Amino acid sequence: MKEPDAAYDGRLAIDNRDVAGVLERIADLLEFKDENPFKLRSYRVAAETIAEMQQPIAEVAARGAASLQELPGIGKSLSAQIVEIVQTGTSSFFEELKEEIPESVLELRRVSGIGLKTSQQLYRDFGIKSLDELKAFAEGGGLESVTGLGEKTASRIKASLAHLASARGKVRLNEASDLAAAIVEQLRAVNGGQANRAARVEVVGQIRRGCEMVDNVELLASGEAGLLGQTFARLPQLAEIKAQRADRIEGVTKKDVAVTLHMIPEADYAAAMVRTTGSAEHLRDLEAEAAARGYAFKGFQLGDAKAAGESRKRKSKAAGEGHRLPLNSEAEFYSALGLEFIAPELREGLGEVAAARDNRLPELIRIEDMRGDFHMHTTWSDGQNSVREMIEAARRRGYQYIAITDHTQSTSIANGNTPAELLKELEEIEAAAREYDDIRVLKGAEVDILSDGSLDMPFDVLDRLDWIVVSIHAGFQQPKEQITERVIRAMETGYPNVFAHPTGRILGERAGYEIDLEQVIAAAREHHVRLELNASPYRLDLNSYWLRVARQAGVGFVISTDSHQTRGFEAMRYGIATARRAWLTRDDVLNTLPLAKLLAELDRKKRQRRPA
Ligand SMILES: [Zn+2]
Ligand SMILES: [Zn+2]
Repeated sequence: MKEPDAAYDGRLAIDNRDVAGVLERIADLLEFKDENPFKLRSYRVAAETIAEMQQPIAEVAARGAASLQELPGIGKSLSAQIVEIVQTGTSSFFEELKEEIPESVLELRRVSGIGLKTSQQLYRDFGIKSLDELKAFAEGGGLESVTGLGEKTASRIKASLAHLASARGKVRLNEASDLAAAIVEQLRAVNGGQANRAARVEVVGQIRRGCEMVDNVELLASGEAGLLGQTFARLPQLAEIKAQRADRIEGVTKKDVAVTLHMIPEADYAAAMVRTTGSAEHLRDLEAEAAARGYAFKGFQLGDAKAAGESRKRKSKAAGEGHRLPLNSEAEFYSALGLEFIAPELREGLGEVAAARDNRLPELIRIEDMRGDFHMHTTWSDGQNSVREMIEAARRRGYQYIAITDHTQSTSIANGNTPAELLKELEEIEAAAREYDDIRVLKGAEVDILSDGSLDMPFDVLDRLDWIVVSIHAGFQQPKEQITERVIRAMETGYPNVFAHPTGRILGERAGYEIDLEQVIAAAREHHVRLELNASPYRLDLNSYWLRVARQAGVGFVISTDSHQTRGFEAMRYGIATARRAWLTRDDVLNTLPLAKLLAELDRKKRQRRPA
């Protein structure tokens, strides 16, 4: 029997990320079981290959297991398993593993202070299988009875558990954006594609505003509601549909992320974009603005206030129907209210409506303004690509300059450089740089600020560098005053160009160290040190709030990706979204400068170096 919508099945295939995810989890469970490291490594390699390839894995799998074996690192048994995952979303081997060990034990390692050994110990000795169980165990004072677990680690675990609880149901912007993009593509495919102007699908809500963490992936669509709803309900990413109304469907993904699809008539599209993008505060300001002009902004329509009122009195369902303003774009919506167009990232109710009324909105920085990247790692420390590969990747992005900034030795887990190793790396950078006349490669390092505030590299070696990033990677438990003092002492040497990831937070994982950012901002200004907006979606540090504070204090910024591989450069867009949320312009950011101006500025900074 042919199902009525069978034609769409092919388009709704599982995506590469999901297949890679299953393989990763198999590897994690094998590791938890202390299985042969080569075996689990083969799963990880396959997961990485699949996650990175452009072609949909479902397409390759459809041609059979033999085609899969042409991919690097995928052998016979893995290829059969991948076919199974593509067809069913799981594999019998994975299901068997999960019977043996509950998958939820993997959650334990998201807690900072818990590594593989401790997670195994908690499971084996105390039967703890999930974060919830660990939380109850910790609250009942259980951590104190775990052998080998010091008081410091126990309190770190508790703090991390509290942080994780606050991040529940949220995902990082990159993950949310990827999910949204995959869903949009599937909805567009059934909705007649971009060619059909009367049928649109767009990402709205928190993702469009560039929020660093997202608890609801929201999409807006016009088109045939029945078809959209049917497709949405069949999305492979969804676990269940929570609510369904004529104008909205709410679902939740297998990874527990809320997804909402708004469905509206094409005529309401512009006002609906505004309604579904802005924060509650922004919408409240717009409603007030509309009222002041004799309009009513209600639901997905902007109309005449009087007409809307009358139709409500007549208990008409279609409030304002026939009186709504014809709007072709969001710009027309804002313009109807006497406002400049307000970029989505600003729609937070932080004074942007008043600024738009007075034409005071800043000209926000754009990704096209970026001319280089000042923070990246290579195989000289914990990066995955060579110096040359990073240069090539930067050229492909059209950058005019980059700085190579590997770790220094105290960050030993990241294989940091000794002074002698750094000098050798500089030779390699110089040699590589000579091969290119279209990109300037600056010699740099990410130098650790040691726990007494000194720099993890002698001054005579630092003197050989064009660009010095300083940061904190250890001693997170120090009191606030001490950490703040460390950073200020480092700045006082005159060497640092930028203080990287100033709070040390990892989004959704850890809160970062205690630091007095107001004092750091004052010191950065005094010593002409820039503050980094680390564009990695795991960090986005500084956040938009502190960027705004620092900007008002007259501090300049650098937006860098902290790439550990060539594709890390793509994270720049998350940094730009955050910068725009902070109202930053091109002038606030050093790596928008053309090369000649940049070099002049670096020279000026070099003359401020004063070794103690
Ligand atoms: Zn770092
Ligand atoms: Zn780094």
